Formats: sequence, C-alpha cells, structure tokens
Amino acid sequence: MNLLLALSITFIFIMVINGVRFMLSPAWNRALFCISLLSVIIVSALLINDQWLSLALFIFVVVSAFSFATIGGVTAAVVALIAVMLLSPSLHTQDYIILFAGYAAVGILSSNYARFLAKETERGIAWQTQLFRQAKELNIVRSIGSALQGTLELDRILHIILTGITAGHGLGYNRAMLFLLSADGKSLQGQAAIGSLRAEDVIHIWKITTRERMTMEDYIEQQKGADKTNQELIEFIRGLEIALDEHPVLDEALRHCKPVVLNTEHDVRMLNQRFGDQLDIAELGIVPLLNHGEAIGVIVVDNHVSSQSFGIGDLQRILPLANQAAMAIYNANLYHKTQEMAITDGLTGLHNQRFFEEMLNTIYNSTRKHQMPLSMLVIDIDFFKNYNDTNGHLAGNDLLIQLAGLLKQSVRKEDLTFRFGGEEFVVLLSSTTKADALRIAEKIRQQIEATVFPYEETQPNQQLTVSIGVSSFPDDKSRPRELFAAADSALYEAKKRGRNQVVGYEEGAPWSI
Ligand code: GH3
Ligand code: MG
Ligand code: MG
Repeated sequence: MNLLLALSITFIFIMVINGVRFMLSPAWNRALFCISLLSVIIVSALLINDQWLSLALFIFVVVSAFSFATIGGVTAAVVALIAVMLLSPSLHTQDYIILFAGYAAVGILSSNYARFLAKETERGIAWQTQLFRQAKELNIVRSIGSALQGTLELDRILHIILTGITAGHGLGYNRAMLFLLSADGKSLQGQAAIGSLRAEDVIHIWKITTRERMTMEDYIEQQKGADKTNQELIEFIRGLEIALDEHPVLDEALRHCKPVVLNTEHDVRMLNQRFGDQLDIAELGIVPLLNHGEAIGVIVVDNHVSSQSFGIGDLQRILPLANQAAMAIYNANLYHKTQEMAITDGLTGLHNQRFFEEMLNTIYNSTRKHQMPLSMLVIDIDFFKNYNDTNGHLAGNDLLIQLAGLLKQSVRKEDLTFRFGGEEFVVLLSSTTKADALRIAEKIRQQIEATVFPYEETQPNQQLTVSIGVSSFPDDKSRPRELFAAADSALYEAKKRGRNQVVGYEEGAPWSI
C-alpha cells in the first residue's frame, strides 16, 4: 500500500516537474530534469533492489555531468553517495568508498566528454556558418556577374555593383558610394551611390522593401535612383571631388591597393568635414577598385543607420565585387571609346562620313516631325591639290586639322560638323532657315579668307579659301540624300563661278539636279 502511494506521488511529481521545466530558464530546466531522474531511480530502487540503486545512480551522475559540467558531476556523485547510504545502510564502509570513487570518476570523465562534444558541435556550427556565408557571397558574385553581362552602360554597371554591396540579400551595407580616379590621377570624382543622406529615410525604405519582399534581382532591376532620397545622395556624391593630397588615407588605399577601415575619431571628423557633415559618418570602409593590378577608383561603404561595426576582413568580402566592377568599368569605357572612334575622323577629330549618314536620317526625321527647317553646308578647300603638291602632304594634313578646328568654333554647339572625306566638310545646321544658313556660310567663308594659314601665299590666289554650297529643308529638297546632292551641286557651281564664294541651291537653275 505504502509502495503504491510512493509510486503515485513520484509519478505526479515527475509529471508536474516535466510540465513546468520547459517554461523556466535553461539551467533550471536541466536541474529539474536531473531531480526528476533521481526520484525515478530512487523509487525504482524501492521496487527492484539495492544493487539496481547503486548502478542506476551512475546514470544520474552522467546526466548531471552533461548538464552542469564538472561541478554537476561531482555534486551528483556526492548526492548519489548520500542516497546509497540512506537507502542501503547495510553496506560496508569500503563499499561506500568504492562507490563514491566510481561516481566521482564517472562524473568527471562524463563532464570532460561533454565539454569535448560541445566544442565539436561549436566547430561544426562555425563551419556551417562560414559555408553558408561563402555560398551567399558566391551567389551575390554570380547574380552580379550575370547582371553585368547584360550591359555596357556605365551608369547601369555602377548601379548593379552597388546593389550587390547594399542589398539585404547582398552584403547588406547601409550605404555604398563609388568614386573614380580623375584622368590626372590626383583626385577622386564621385560617380554613383546607393543609400540615403539621412538615416530616417533609410528606415522608411527598409520598411517598404521588407513588406514587398524584394530580392537582389528586384533591386538590380529597379531603375537607378528610382527613389527621391537615393537621388539626393547621388547628386551629392556626383558633386564631390576629393583631392588625394588632402586625404592621405584615400591615397594610401589606392597606392597599396588594400581596403582600409576609418574609425578613429580624427579620421572620421576630417572626412565628415570634407563631406560638409552631410553624410554623418561614424565608421567608414574604403575598398579600392583594381583593374589589371591598378587602382581606378574606390568604393566607400558605411553603416550609418544600423551602426554595425566592420573590420578589414569584412571589407575583403567586397573585393570580388570591386574587381568585377573595375573590369566592367574598364570594358564599358573601352567599348565607348571604340564606338567613339568608329564615328570620328582620325585626322581632324570631327565626326566622319559614316556618322553623317547615320545622323542625317535621324536629324531629318525629327526636323520633319517638328516642322522645323534644316540646312546643310558642303565646304571644299580651293586648290587643295596645289597646296599639297607645293607644301607636302603633311603640311596639307596640318591645314585640314586647323581648318576643322576653325569650322567647329564657327558653329553652335548643337550643330554637327563632319569631315566628309578628303578636303570636303559638311555642317548640319538644325532649326536654321536657308537665309540664315547662307549668312552663316558667308561668315565662315570670310573668316577662312581672313585667317592667315601657313604657306597660303603658295596658293594660286595667294590665300587659302573655301567654296561653300548651301541647301535647306523644306525650301529645296524633301529627302535627305537629295538635300546633300543639292548642296553638292551648289558647291560645284561655286567652283565654276571662280571659287571662294557661297552658292545657295536654286531649283530650276541650269545646274540644278
Ligand atoms: P578645287 O578647288 O576644285 O577643289 O581643287 P582641289 O585641288 O582642292 O581639288 P581636288 O579634288 O583636285 O584635290 C583634292 C586634293 O585633296 C587631292 C588630295 O591630294 C588632297 N587630299 C585628300 N585627302 C587628303 C588628306 O587626308 N590629307 C592631305 N594632305 N591631302 C588630302
Ligand atoms: Mg578642293
Ligand atoms: Mg574636293
């Protein structure tokens, strides 16, 4: 009857303890588990025998050692000894000593093993975290790489790279700004940025992006500077030009091609002053952009909202992106240079005939659409063969360069000047009537006549002159090709009439086309 009562009370006790322990702190949870285990062992010993009690208490010692390390193991050994002494009083003293030695030894060994297991688990978790981070970084580099494949446009490239650095699914910096080295290598010029000038704006944007569950691809797709606050930062950064001799830290990052963290009060105060206290920096990371081992600019990052600190190791993780950025910037510049070269005349730097063909149709179409006039001048040097023959081909080239410069200066910025080939030039005067075009042509002719060119005295009329043919839309012709042919025929007429003069195309004239 007593046994039944003891069993019932123990059962209820164990149920209560196991119901409650999960609501308590981890230490209390473990302590209550050990206590409930001890009570089960004691009650079961009442049912079985003394030998079972002394053996089962080893389990209690092991569990306590795992729960509370060495101190738990040793305390449990003492508790186990007391339990044996109380419940098995008939044993000899030496049996108690042997049992206690056994409990203590098992307690200490178990706690050591538990420590070893905990360390192994910790190492496993650390490895897992590192692997996870590396997989994430690889994913960022992959996403950025494939996004970069799709464009050669510099602004878009910079936006993609900075997205990888700032997006939550990317490296997660609060703000990233990109500066490129000036042509003379003496200053850094702000080019692009993602983030905001003020912290409160960022928090608002984060709320929106979290609500909309935006991925990094979404950020990349988002039009650069789509939101107003980002636009503010971009404009601020674009207005910045930082002289390297005033900022040795930036200079150092560029020269040593290594990331730098700025967090000393002095450095940060200097930079904040430099940025007109607009950026409110607490800590700043500078990562050089390297292409073929040479720094072409820097990416500057900070966490002005989260205030999360970072070290050189963290900045190293930006390097793969920075290298991709540098290469993409280099390729984009190369592409634009090549494109530029394809439409530029190598000798004079004016647009070439190929670009003329391209532009004539474009300008002509927009002129027609907006019902505006368009005029064309075809300019040809008089007796240029003579100039070449007398003074040499190189002197002829120099003259072409000088004349090209003069022509470019004589027209408005929006007008286009082409070297059509040889010693023939074309000027497209947008929104210009025929009467105005004739006046401009005459002004150019007079200016060239008045300019003293080298060796011009060797020319048949002792000076260097040009003849100019003029045609206009809609006065003369209604198709682009015809417009050129009309101006060319007027030029031919000017040559026929004795050169050094301007002739406007006349429909119905004996020489008209
Ligand atoms: P006109 O007054 O009738 O125009 O006589 P012109 O001698 O200027 O005309 P022509 O077409 O007979 O000669 C053009 C010359 O331009 C022939 C060629 O030697 C020269 N020329 C064409 N391209 C170049 C060039 O790139 N460099 C130099 N130096 N000369 C060129
Ligand atoms: Mg000529
Ligand atoms: Mg000619």
